[in-house]
Amino acid sequence: MNAAEAWTRLEAELSAWQQARRTASLWWRDDDAGDATPALRRLMAIALTHRVPLALATVPAWATSALAAAVSEAGTVVSVLQHGYAHANHAPLGQKKFELGPERPAAVVVAELAQGWHVLESRFGAQFSPVLVPPWNRMAPYLPPFLAELRYRGLSQFGPRARRQPVRGLLQVNTHVDIVHWKGPAPRFAGEAKLVDEFVLHLAARRAGEADPEEPTGLLTHHAAHDEACWRFLEDLFGRLAKHAAVQWLAAPAIFADGAKP
Ligand SMILES: [Zn+2]
Repeated sequence: MNAAEAWTRLEAELSAWQQARRTASLWWRDDDAGDATPALRRLMAIALTHRVPLALATVPAWATSALAAAVSEAGTVVSVLQHGYAHANHAPLGQKKFELGPERPAAVVVAELAQGWHVLESRFGAQFSPVLVPPWNRMAPYLPPFLAELRYRGLSQFGPRARRQPVRGLLQVNTHVDIVHWKGPAPRFAGEAKLVDEFVLHLAARRAGEADPEEPTGLLTHHAAHDEACWRFLEDLFGRLAKHAAVQWLAAPAIFADGAKP
């Protein structure tokens, strides 16, 4: 696959949105925030430079006061979502990693999530949106009704959503393009042509009604795992998309603010 051809296909897809007088809504979620590391600061600088709203899926048990200070300083371009509680794996050895799985009693899992919400609200105040991002993008099927009861506004995993609201009052908005390739000895950039085509595929599916047209296309990053190629791709992507009138980057608080309405 050729990267230049992929960018041309993306431009054509966005032009089709523009001709249809539709807004190609996008959003950006970055996972595994905890401390104000150099990588985290680099990520925030990119968000500020390109004025692209950044939703930091933050692990409550990892959240430091240095991160709180950096988020506060960045202002409204940065918001905080809840990434599980401790990003701890409770699955038996050899099985897929699972923090919010069936291994522990529901009461324990739910109490931990409520504690995590409290931690993030105390640290980040109004920049925290009560939206759950399950670690490893998976959770036990019993959880969504509990989340609605706890008054979470939203849920975010990976891949086209099956339903707008998995249960009444809980909006689901996922991410769709993961820039990191996780298999192999170390995480690395997933590849320019492949990623650009993934944007094209989700946007085209939305436009054709094959995917939910109202679900914003989600970019997924993991600042702690980025190699230089990942960083370059983000700069390039934001720079190129800024030129398109059809593109609108949405902030997570706006996406999830009234999304829970039926
Ligand atoms: Zn994670």
